[in-house]
Amino acid sequence: MQSSLNGQTASFTSDAVFIDGKTPYYQSRLLNEYGIRHAFFTRIGGVSEGVFESLNFAEGIGEIRDSEERVLMNYDIAAKCFGLSAKDVCRTYQTHTSVVVLADESKRGVGIVKPKFDFGVDGLVTTERDLLLSVRTADCVPVLLCDKSKSVCAAVHAGWRGTVGGITKNAVEMMCESGIDKSEILVAIGPCIGKCCYEVGEEVRDEFLAVDPLYGSFFTPNGQKFMLDLNKANEEILVGTGIPRQNISRLDLCTKCNENHFFSHRRNGTSRGTMSAFICL
Ligand SMILES: [Zn+2]
Repeated sequence: MQSSLNGQTASFTSDAVFIDGKTPYYQSRLLNEYGIRHAFFTRIGGVSEGVFESLNFAEGIGEIRDSEERVLMNYDIAAKCFGLSAKDVCRTYQTHTSVVVLADESKRGVGIVKPKFDFGVDGLVTTERDLLLSVRTADCVPVLLCDKSKSVCAAVHAGWRGTVGGITKNAVEMMCESGIDKSEILVAIGPCIGKCCYEVGEEVRDEFLAVDPLYGSFFTPNGQKFMLDLNKANEEILVGTGIPRQNISRLDLCTKCNENHFFSHRRNGTSRGTMSAFICL
């Protein structure tokens, strides 16, 4: 960890590597050890303005909208870091589902230069080279996965609904259909809202308990509410899926605490931009 964000230094357990520059991004130390091409972009280095300043990847859901052109330019800026362009991106159509889709060559440019998916897609798996998978977040968890031999990779958007709905498990199972073993899969859990800031009601905890009573360990009581630890939840659910714990890397960076680097829905509501995480073979 090379930077102190907003006065908050990442914990010593963080696996985050900060790549500084005109378009800075975070990476996972573990994925880097295997030469896996991936990036968790910050809000810095794009062309958007106002509440979307500046590396924004979605037009927005509030009253103020960013322009399609600026979002496309931001995709181009990010793709260039991979030696690619926006038309190489495949973009999810996120609706908090647990749906994962295999992105073959025909999905190159979906949601960018081709129409978006016409149903909710919150996770993507690919075996194609140079096909850049994009998931977008502003507190939810971006999870990037790749096998050690770099034959198959995945990008997942996991909010609390996707997390409890088993979206990462769905991605792992689809990756294994290509013939790899779970022990070969490496995972990076990216910047997301931390247990320091993510207060939820009893109804959220009840949904986790309904799946597995052990999931109660993801929650810490806070008055009438609970603090939910999405980093831990995703790590434990992946371990339960059969991924070795040493194959899981956590960046442990809170999007709400670190305003200089990240957009946050809990901090700014709908008046905010959206970050993107990318992975490709
Ligand atoms: Zn926080």
